[in-house]
Amino acid sequence: MDLALSEEQEAVRKLAEDFVAREVAPHVVDWDRAEDVDRSIVRKLGDVGFLGLTVPEEYGGSGGDHLSYCLVTEELGRGDSSVRGIVSVSLGLVAKTVAAWGSEEQKRAWLPRLTSGEAIGCFGLTEPGTGSDAGNLATRAVRDGGDYVVNGAKTFITNGTWADVVLLFARTGEAPGHRGVSAFLVPADTPGLTRRTIHGKLGLRGQATAELVLEDVRIPASALLGPAGKGFSIAMSALAKGRMSVAAGCVGIAQAALDAAVRYAGEREQFGKAIAGHQLVQELLSDIAVDVDAARLLTWRVADLIDRGREFATAASQAKLFASEAAVRCANNAIQVFGGYGYIDEYPVGKLLRDARVMTLYEGTSQIQKLIIGRALTGVSAF
Ligand SMILES: Cc1cc2nc3c(=O)[nH]c(=O)nc-3n(C[C@H](O)[C@H](O)[C@H](O)COP(=O)(O)OP(=O)(O)OC[C@H]3O[C@@H](n4cnc5c(N)ncnc54)[C@H](O)[C@@H]3O)c2cc1C
Repeated sequence: MDLALSEEQEAVRKLAEDFVAREVAPHVVDWDRAEDVDRSIVRKLGDVGFLGLTVPEEYGGSGGDHLSYCLVTEELGRGDSSVRGIVSVSLGLVAKTVAAWGSEEQKRAWLPRLTSGEAIGCFGLTEPGTGSDAGNLATRAVRDGGDYVVNGAKTFITNGTWADVVLLFARTGEAPGHRGVSAFLVPADTPGLTRRTIHGKLGLRGQATAELVLEDVRIPASALLGPAGKGFSIAMSALAKGRMSVAAGCVGIAQAALDAAVRYAGEREQFGKAIAGHQLVQELLSDIAVDVDAARLLTWRVADLIDRGREFATAASQAKLFASEAAVRCANNAIQVFGGYGYIDEYPVGKLLRDARVMTLYEGTSQIQKLIIGRALTGVSAF
């Protein structure tokens, strides 16, 4: 097995590293404190091709394989998880789903805009009453002549206030549970759709996370994405690939924690020598390093499976479960290396822990990943 990157993959990784150094790193602390990433970053991400990775070039995408997508996501996550999330959602959950399930008309209408950064997408699945149990969502789309009329509410929606289009999941049929759910592409300026920013997040503070309220939102039947009643399958197929992207972002957090901790351990002196020379500090550093490599290898395996057209959903859950828990461990260990300075936001490791913490919660909590893995192992669903 050859784990070396190809020349193209290394070039994409370097492009992302340079992009982060130039466009992200100088602003990270200010964006975090202001709870607001500068929106111009979206167009810059589009210009450099990061919002079109793996999307066919005929729809404005920049092509590339899924390992390249992981490399970019890792570098962005290493720089700022709020920026990484913009790509993971607008490209990973929305544009890639339009590419996979959209009609020719929908692809032509949305993909060039999403991949260039002219427009941004959000993924509207979670509701106040249904998070892990997303198949029981309550938002309803009722057919009225050539239209649907939608009523309901969504919460915790990443990119929510920035989005130009909402990939919305709503109940269209009388069938109970996930069988009655359909997917729609709803322009965010449709009358009756209102958005409110959620403030006070522990991490991902720069990211535009929102509540959406839909009151008599009228959309044409042509807004339906994929067949009616297939919405839950569409959401789950999007999230399976999305979990690889979250895992890659977690590898980025863990790598950033390692870089910062190793650098600091070499500079800080206690008891007359650099703390890097104390064995228990080396233990902390080596624990982080092993987590980084294990998380990265699990994540790359998912990319490899997807690019070879193989079944990948369970591997994606394994990667997301391990990498998210590892990112939290690594950031926490890095704070320990920094001592009291790790607790102050002039140093990067506190933010890494705050940003890492959500990774075990969204796109399926760690408990939900274990149920998915358990179902694959036993053939028995515990849901
Ligand atoms: C910052 C942020 C951004 C987000 N972005 C988006 C987005 O863009 N789009 C979107 O649709 N959603 C988004 N989410 C929502 C996220 O996916 C949900 O928060 C997540 O699915 C968990 O749902 P919940 O918060 O309702 O928790 P709950 O489902 O209420 O879970 C609470 C606890 O119960 C456990 N639990 C639940 N069911 C079971 C079970 N069967 N067995 C064992 N344990 C169980 C969970 O693991 C968890 O520990 C985001 C959330 C956050 C915080």
